[in-house]
Amino acid sequence: MKKNGKHMWKRKEKEKRRPVYLVWVHLVIGAALLLLAVVWQCPVRLLFGVPCPGCGTTRACIALLSMDVRAAFGYQPVFPLILILFLYGIHRNIIRRKWMEKGRRWKGSLETALVLAAGGVVLAVYVARLLLQTSPVMEIALEEGLVYQAMELAGIAGR
Ligand SMILES: [Zn+2]
Repeated sequence: MKKNGKHMWKRKEKEKRRPVYLVWVHLVIGAALLLLAVVWQCPVRLLFGVPCPGCGTTRACIALLSMDVRAAFGYQPVFPLILILFLYGIHRNIIRRKWMEKGRRWKGSLETALVLAAGGVVLAVYVARLLLQTSPVMEIALEEGLVYQAMELAGIAGR
């Protein structure tokens, strides 16, 4: 009985400390990811000289951190959706476990439909922005892509 009581106490202590620990883990990982994203070169742009559907998300996050909401949406109009998709991807298994622990049914088809719908919106906005060329983020510079430069060296493209 006594042993059990001590055990319960320990467990309670652990549960009390957990949220603080989780906040720190998320702050540290979030900061590390943001730093990584800043030095990160979009591989699609690097290779082909064309932006990818996610381009501008890092700049949007930085603008948001300095409270410039307008600039954030200018860099990437669907950055909240991209962030949600990204965060959901990381936490998906935890969310699924918690959901099912509560005795609820997990609908895989609904999940797929929602993710596809969100992805579709991101893609549609990407195509529209690529065609409209209203933001420097969406600038197309094929000749700056490594593939084009390699083709130029090989004499297939350019001049
Ligand atoms: Zn990109």
